[in-house]
Amino acid sequence: MTELRFNELRGEEVDYAIHRQDRTFLPSRDHCPLCPTRPGGPPTEIPFPGFEIAVFDNRFPAFTAPQGAAEVVVYTDEHGGSLATLAPSRVEDLMWVWRHRYLELGAREDVDYVMIFENRGVEVGVTLHHPHGQIYGYPFVPPVPALELAADRRLGACAPCALMRAELDDGRRVLFENAAAVAYVPYAARWAYEVHVSLRAHRPSLLQCEPLELRGLAEVLQALVRGYDALFDRPFPYVMVVHQAATAAAPDSPGGAGSPGGHVHVEFYPPLRTADKLKYLAGSEQGAGTFIADTVPEESASALREAIARAA
Ligand SMILES: [Zn+2]
Ligand SMILES: [Zn+2]
Ligand SMILES: [Zn+2]
Repeated sequence: MTELRFNELRGEEVDYAIHRQDRTFLPSRDHCPLCPTRPGGPPTEIPFPGFEIAVFDNRFPAFTAPQGAAEVVVYTDEHGGSLATLAPSRVEDLMWVWRHRYLELGAREDVDYVMIFENRGVEVGVTLHHPHGQIYGYPFVPPVPALELAADRRLGACAPCALMRAELDDGRRVLFENAAAVAYVPYAARWAYEVHVSLRAHRPSLLQCEPLELRGLAEVLQALVRGYDALFDRPFPYVMVVHQAATAAAPDSPGGAGSPGGHVHVEFYPPLRTADKLKYLAGSEQGAGTFIADTVPEESASALREAIARAA
């Protein structure tokens, strides 16, 4: 169903999943496949009249066994809303679901890297509006996590730990923090309102987190997303990605046994640079790999900090 081809010039895999062309595209509310199956109503992906959080295999998978996995995580049985409007206890529950999926998928032979993510808004290609995220189990360690492991090696220590400490020392780009986690606009953010939410303690994956840390992480994520929505007073599109340790079993792989790599952090890449202007990846970003930004991280941070306070 899917085919991986190695792109020599880029040194990276490309995943061909052509059946995805036919996936459900922005259905009307009445035909939402992520809503519960109401008595007498049409069957949806979830054969129950109600649920809290639902996880199932993506029907249009980018990866399938024995070459990885693709799952959908539905945050609520209510069609409207977002991570911002869920009850705080539900967001906390979601952290436990993430942890459980990381454990199960990560234990599979064919999954070397578990990536939990959410695409929000048509600006980033969302095809279903019902609040949900996704999980890909990659049959290899993809380039971005591999670059983070290379940063660990370059710094001779955990890069997310070192970067978070530097942000806390500087303070200008810190947005919100509690005992468990810190949200900041990174010193060298690529996107105008890019934010990283990092666990304060060094935790390679959610499996090493204490229950209170999961609760604290949920609180910071929700405060941030509410702040995003308040920033321009509109639902704020973003790509949200959870980075954790690789789950590759081979000892010589970057995330294998004995490797120090991995520190739970959540990265947000929002495409908006103003209330109504999108940042496009164009010549320099695509052809050279160099982002050209027209905002300064310190100014974005101060606007976002105010928005988070306003939304609290
Ligand atoms: Zn729905
Ligand atoms: Zn660390
Ligand atoms: Zn990262």
